[in-house]
Amino acid sequence: MWNQMRELMIGACDLHIHAGPDVVPRQQDLLEVAEQASEAGMKALAIKDHNTVTADRVNLAKKFVSKDLMLLGGIVLNYAVGGFNVEAVDQALRLGAKIVWMPSMDSCLTIEKVHVSQATPWLLPFVKLRQPEKGLTVLDQWPSGENLKPEVRDILKLIAENDAILDTCHLSAHECKVLIDGAVDVGVKKIIVTHPNCSVNPMTIDEQKSLITKGDQIYLNYAFLPCMPLFDRQHPRIIAEMMNGVGFDRCMLFSDFGQMVNPPPVEGYQMFIASLLAMGVGEKEIQKMASKNPARLLGLE
Ligand SMILES: [Zn+2]
Repeated sequence: MWNQMRELMIGACDLHIHAGPDVVPRQQDLLEVAEQASEAGMKALAIKDHNTVTADRVNLAKKFVSKDLMLLGGIVLNYAVGGFNVEAVDQALRLGAKIVWMPSMDSCLTIEKVHVSQATPWLLPFVKLRQPEKGLTVLDQWPSGENLKPEVRDILKLIAENDAILDTCHLSAHECKVLIDGAVDVGVKKIIVTHPNCSVNPMTIDEQKSLITKGDQIYLNYAFLPCMPLFDRQHPRIIAEMMNGVGFDRCMLFSDFGQMVNPPPVEGYQMFIASLLAMGVGEKEIQKMASKNPARLLGLE
């Protein structure tokens, strides 16, 4: 299994990792993760910071990492950048941001899961707001509005004009549905639905399937983080069932690692592959999710 896993790392992409510098202490800095990723033969890494733009540090880091490794930065639309701040998105895209993440720690849903239903207690230190209605939603009304906020529409237009990737981040299944409809309407082509296997934004297999019907470049990106002991303690079998349910053509893998209590991101990704192999997911299917699908999304084919 070790050899199979090593082979599958060649060409793999992890489009969601956390690395220093960050206000949250991180396991490794960006250059350390990139070095390990290059050694493993990986093809792309995307660096996510809940509070600031990562496009600038990525531009600088590119000078120091192997040209064979693509580095992507972006912006997460939490309150630290003004929430749904059209100007912040515009400037981030000019700086080379490739991914625009919807809100994470400040999303209404995250506040609800952490402080109200307490389904995701491990995020408690990172979620300052306590009332879901004080948080950020893409909808005109939380939780079941049917329309997008005007500023969210403007952000979607910018994403479309720049052919960037829209990432749904910590939104609910209903928000994702309304958002993806609006995104496709204005010409957004590349969309990632983030960790539908996580307790902070869980989605049924039917919900997941319905979200990918609007375009052929919409992918469900499963995280390994929820499987870890201090997080959701999710059995990898549950992720394998989701993948089987939605079909491997629209699935991707990411570690979401970088936390001090977990192994480094590249090792997290290796653990994810090994766990899927152990769950009976085929090598061809894993290669599709780890390498082929992200390469298609990133135009690396
Ligand atoms: Zn993350």
